[in-house]
Amino acid sequence: MAEDFYSILEVPRNASQDDIKKAYRRLAMKYHPDHNPGDKTAEEKFKNIGAAYEVLGNEEKKRIYDQVGHEAYTRSGQGGGPGGPGGFNVNFEDLGDVFGSMFGDMFGGGGGGRRARDPNAPMRGSDLEYNLRLTFNEAVKGCVKEIGFTLKDTCGTCRGSGAEPGTSRKKCPKCNGTGQILMSRGFFQMKSTCPNCRGMGSIVEKPCHDCHGEGKVSRKRSVKLNIPAGVDSGSRLRSAGNGETGRMGGPNGDLYVTLVVEEHPIFKREGLNLFVEVPIPFTKAALGGEVEVPTIDGPDKIKVPAGTQNGTDIRMAGKGVPSPSSKGRRGDQFVRVSIEVPVKLSSEQKEILQKFDASCTKEEHPRFKAFMDKIKKLFN
Ligand SMILES: [Zn+2]
Ligand SMILES: [Zn+2]
Repeated sequence: MAEDFYSILEVPRNASQDDIKKAYRRLAMKYHPDHNPGDKTAEEKFKNIGAAYEVLGNEEKKRIYDQVGHEAYTRSGQGGGPGGPGGFNVNFEDLGDVFGSMFGDMFGGGGGGRRARDPNAPMRGSDLEYNLRLTFNEAVKGCVKEIGFTLKDTCGTCRGSGAEPGTSRKKCPKCNGTGQILMSRGFFQMKSTCPNCRGMGSIVEKPCHDCHGEGKVSRKRSVKLNIPAGVDSGSRLRSAGNGETGRMGGPNGDLYVTLVVEEHPIFKREGLNLFVEVPIPFTKAALGGEVEVPTIDGPDKIKVPAGTQNGTDIRMAGKGVPSPSSKGRRGDQFVRVSIEVPVKLSSEQKEILQKFDASCTKEEHPRFKAFMDKIKKLFN
């Protein structure tokens, strides 16, 4: 990277003109070719010192240099390097070209300044965003929701122009219809949005009585939304044409509704699949049988095979959440078996279980048997 002019002259950025001049003299003496015959490095340094002083030693050039930085300044051809143009002819057109791309439309010149838009041209209304909370059931089943909100909408009386119907807008006298005004900041001229017309380039002759010339009014809006079955948190629905009203007959914007779905105390959802943990008596798990389970369509029954272990997932195909995008497709429901060991046994029940226990060989509990075998091996 090229050294900037301040480091070439070995002065701080806040150096006074006096300091800059002194530094230049000192360094120019040091690296002058007469004192360093045949030294190419010194010669190069001497040239750079001259170039740096040409800019920093001149208040106006220095100000521009400080504003745009070393790289942009030298790239603009205004650096006036050794053998370069001695004079400094500011050409705003050129500067605009060079700097316009860097600073957007901060700089004027270049001829291609931003145009004020035609206040009578139709313009599409803005899109609106809305967050809607749904219960779990509303989301998986689908529903119709009416939402109400207040928006700053395009005034219907003046169609957003701000001008009383029958009157028109006239050219803004402050910016002469350009929507921008020139501000002088030191040596530079900058364009900024005209505060009088807020960049429109025109002002109203007589303000609309409804919106007082603003072109917008506060309005309550209620929108009916058809929520398809199967939507989830983060789903985004588009309600076409329910955004802000267009200006001067332009099309309306759209309303985007982002959904937030509440959790369910029993059903857990993962995509289109549902998970539900169901406690099952240990006898049912051992003997097998039917168990009643909840589904989003209501109570249903599943068959638990004999010998079902704790934590087993039993799949109920097609009992999950319907897909909101492809009709007819549904996820699955998984019933996670949670085996409950009985508590508070009567003495009679205890007796029965003791009898059962006494009848057991090791084959009824294969995991237990395998584990005990392992332990035996470990300690023998
Ligand atoms: Zn109005
Ligand atoms: Zn203006």
